[in-house]
Amino acid sequence: MGKTIGVLIRYEKAPEKIAEVAVRVAQEIFKRKDKSKLFLSAEELNEEVEMCTQCMNCVFACPHSLRVDQAMKKVQNGGFSMFKELEAICIACGRCEQSCPKNIRIIDVIMQTSLDQLYAKTGKTRTGRGPIQDTEIRNVGQPIVFGQIPGVIAPVGCINYPDKMESIREILEPFLKRKYIVVTSGCHAMDIGMLKDEEGQTLYEKYPGSFDAGGMVNVGSCVSNPHISGAAIKIANIFAMRPLRGNYAEIADYILNRVGAVGFSWGPYSQKAASIATGFNRLGVPVVVGPHGTKYRRAYIGKPWKKDKWWVYDIRRKHKVNIEPAPDALLVAVETKGEAIVQLARLCIRPNDTNQGRQIKLTHYIELSKEYMGGLPDD
Ligand code: SF4
Ligand code: SF4
Repeated sequence: MGKTIGVLIRYEKAPEKIAEVAVRVAQEIFKRKDKSKLFLSAEELNEEVEMCTQCMNCVFACPHSLRVDQAMKKVQNGGFSMFKELEAICIACGRCEQSCPKNIRIIDVIMQTSLDQLYAKTGKTRTGRGPIQDTEIRNVGQPIVFGQIPGVIAPVGCINYPDKMESIREILEPFLKRKYIVVTSGCHAMDIGMLKDEEGQTLYEKYPGSFDAGGMVNVGSCVSNPHISGAAIKIANIFAMRPLRGNYAEIADYILNRVGAVGFSWGPYSQKAASIATGFNRLGVPVVVGPHGTKYRRAYIGKPWKKDKWWVYDIRRKHKVNIEPAPDALLVAVETKGEAIVQLARLCIRPNDTNQGRQIKLTHYIELSKEYMGGLPDD
């Protein structure tokens, strides 16, 4: 360890070498690991499985209510297939192990019985591209205002999916086809690189491009989320010429009323993801979360709606116009893929949309509602 720290200190003055040092340290640590402890032997696997009494404590503790008890029973009878199904959904949170009265190494059992499936998983995610450039913002400003780019969808959540990982692709692809910009980060960015179609293409390959209509953009890890909020801030700065310094409230107001950007977290897993969502909310960007997001709900206390208290300023006619709060929600928890798609389209609609932009956004909202919810939206 002392040797490793020495290496890091020596490279402090050459930051471009840090990535190389990180890789070398990881390789050295891996060499020193006792690999025999990484996997269960056939006897150990057998011992773990035999201990299970099918008490179901693990099932009640699991955020997905995965039927570990049934899978254990099947293995006791010689079949591994059910554990392979569980592996596709399990997020390795460890809550089952904490609740097991027999201290069974449940995650190790799931992994060991699904090794072929795990080894077959390969992804095509590159490192994130970093911030959205001012030049890109200048190019998309007009199409965003006139609706040719109907919105910006930002999937930024963790892996705590309510169902299989494939849902992420199924939710995002309709928006890419309809020329929304999809800009992602973190676990969602990595998983998008794992999900391939019949031709072996990920969304990155099928919808390549920059921050532009129908482009699939990966800005980087979850700490790269400020690149996404930064893009919204740049729109306010470049197009509305809002000053940046000490002007958060006005910029957030502009984004809320004008920039059709919506955050999306199909798997809001950690406090970190919840705080990212809150940060987007403060900037006037609504966020749609999957079913597990209900536990992160919060009350935003503002002025209660009164007909004459909520208004916008009509700059053409130069007078105030009373409106209802819009968008009507900043944090929306949804149960199904269809609901997620429809809410994402709905929340891209903003009070200051141009007539043309509104027309196009409404068309997408209505069409997606018919396709995924079987009819016209309630509102
Ligand atoms: S809690 Fe442990 S013993 Fe009970 S069903 Fe789950 S794995 Fe089996
Ligand atoms: S580790 Fe997997 S099986 Fe265990 S509680 Fe978490 S999601 Fe469920």
